[in-house]
Amino acid sequence: MKNRIVLLGPPASGKGTQAALLGTVFGIPHVSTGEIVRSERAKGTAIGLEADSYASKGLLFPDELALRFVGQWLGTHSRFVFDGFPRTIGQATALNSLLESKSLDIQTVYLLELPDSEVRSRMLGRLTCSVCGAVFNETFHKISASDPCPKCDGVLARRRDDTLEALDHRLAQYHEFTKPITDYYEAAGILRKVDVRFGRDSVFQLLYNDIRADA
Ligand SMILES: [Zn+2]
Repeated sequence: MKNRIVLLGPPASGKGTQAALLGTVFGIPHVSTGEIVRSERAKGTAIGLEADSYASKGLLFPDELALRFVGQWLGTHSRFVFDGFPRTIGQATALNSLLESKSLDIQTVYLLELPDSEVRSRMLGRLTCSVCGAVFNETFHKISASDPCPKCDGVLARRRDDTLEALDHRLAQYHEFTKPITDYYEAAGILRKVDVRFGRDSVFQLLYNDIRADA
């Protein structure tokens, strides 16, 4: 059984959903830097306040700060599913040194692959209920923004940052930062590519079987 996992993938690839499912089924803690930051902020720690100064400006955390968070977290945990971390090659190599100092390693890095065209249609077709917060997709759920929410009859709306221009920028950034990371893990022999076009359940089944198989 694998206990130390990294999930990489573009927006709308379902990383967060898969990480949460793995957490529920295997009890492996699901870690995103965003969550660690939120909990440190809630506790009002110095590192939490420092992170706040970036988050409030909508900036990404510098590598050094993200690593301090993860380093602190690894002080008390030896199993993890990282989601959205490492985000840069600098974070990936530093994470390796951190783990080595604890005689731990990453067992598998799953790269959730989704063509850009599919990311666009998943993201741009996304409608969120303004009342209950449920998220729907115009294509999958065969509904449009003028329909009421199927769950509560609330008003459906597109998120304002889901524009094509903003999304293309995010995608370009994703590819630019992710390519060196996947090359790095591929060279280490721990990268496994997963085609996520076939939906959440088949992706989960594949991850489930692979994680249960002997590492
Ligand atoms: Zn609703």
